Amino acid sequence: MAKAPEQPALFDLSPQPRRLNDHGQRVVAWFSCGATSAIATKLAIARWGDRVEVVRIRLGREHADNDRFAADCSAWFGKPILDIRSHRYDDHFEVAVGERYINGPDGAKCSAILKRAVREAFQSFDDIQVFGFDADEEVSQNRARDFRLHHPEIMLVTPLLDEGLGKADCLAMVERAGIEIPAMYRLGFGNNNCVGCWKGGMGYWNKIRRDFPEVFAEAALVERSIGRSAIRTKADGQVFLDTLDPARGRFEDEPKISCGPTCFTAESKITGEAA
Ligand code: SF4
Repeated sequence: MAKAPEQPALFDLSPQPRRLNDHGQRVVAWFSCGATSAIATKLAIARWGDRVEVVRIRLGREHADNDRFAADCSAWFGKPILDIRSHRYDDHFEVAVGERYINGPDGAKCSAILKRAVREAFQSFDDIQVFGFDADEEVSQNRARDFRLHHPEIMLVTPLLDEGLGKADCLAMVERAGIEIPAMYRLGFGNNNCVGCWKGGMGYWNKIRRDFPEVFAEAALVERSIGRSAIRTKADGQVFLDTLDPARGRFEDEPKISCGPTCFTAESKITGEAA
């Protein structure tokens, strides 16, 4: 007997990423003091000019040089940068103490509270939103795809992906614009968000111990005060920073830390109340 033809679905109810519907509304460029968000913002301004609002979500414990970098970029953009921040907590150490939670399989709570919730409170449904997903690797491109799928409500544009620009391209472009790259990059960190990021591995934390001993000591106290560690491994279980062997971990080999927009997706599973 002939096989019955497959019935076409009448309605596809799965969420579809929003298409760009440009009718002269606000364009929000999320600037995070990284080279990629700087170039994404510059490209957005080249395209949309005065319609672009450049917004920085302050995290409370960024390197002091980020303010210098933001001021330099603001002059380059020819626009002010609007600073916004969480009113619940000043920084990621306060989040850990207040929530008695640091990091888990679904991500870090600080990212959801200090970044996602703040972004969601600021954004409007009709905004065109510019994010600096770069074209470096499949991983980065997959993040952009996942972000689109998980946030179909956001009208997302990704100038770096559109132009095929990777992180190294962006760093070079920033330097060619006469702007010194942020201090954390110069120190060898790939992440320019919080100093002492809870998502770091053993190599990262040993580098923080060497470069920012006072931050390391404070993070170790925070861990003990709530009885939870940022690092845990299958073999060791919880590894508190005050017991971390200074010889452990190879920072260069550890996965790059991301506190970008895709983290919000995972973290939203554990912090519904953060929004
Ligand atoms: S950079 Fe790290 S510590 Fe800071 S909010 Fe993001 S995940 Fe948390």
